[in-house]
Amino acid sequence: MAIIKIKENYCKGCLLCIPVCRNKSLELSDTINVHGLHPVRFKEGAECDGCKKCAIMCPDVAIEIFN
Ligand code: SF4
Ligand code: SF4
Repeated sequence: MAIIKIKENYCKGCLLCIPVCRNKSLELSDTINVHGLHPVRFKEGAECDGCKKCAIMCPDVAIEIFN
């Protein structure tokens, strides 16, 4: 299991990262960030295998994966 860090204030809620996760581990948060946007969050109890697809997909470098 890898560790995922989402920098919510870098996230613009474009949703590009959500469909690339084969574990369906990402979702839109109901909170808002400093820009007034809903950032993506890691689902509670979800799994991350460290594939990094979400991080590669993100145009704003808002996701970091630690294996
Ligand atoms: S690294 Fe892979 S498994 Fe982990 S949240 Fe991102 S897309 Fe999903
Ligand atoms: S791809 Fe990046 S900016 Fe877009 S929703 Fe995902 S984390 Fe946020």
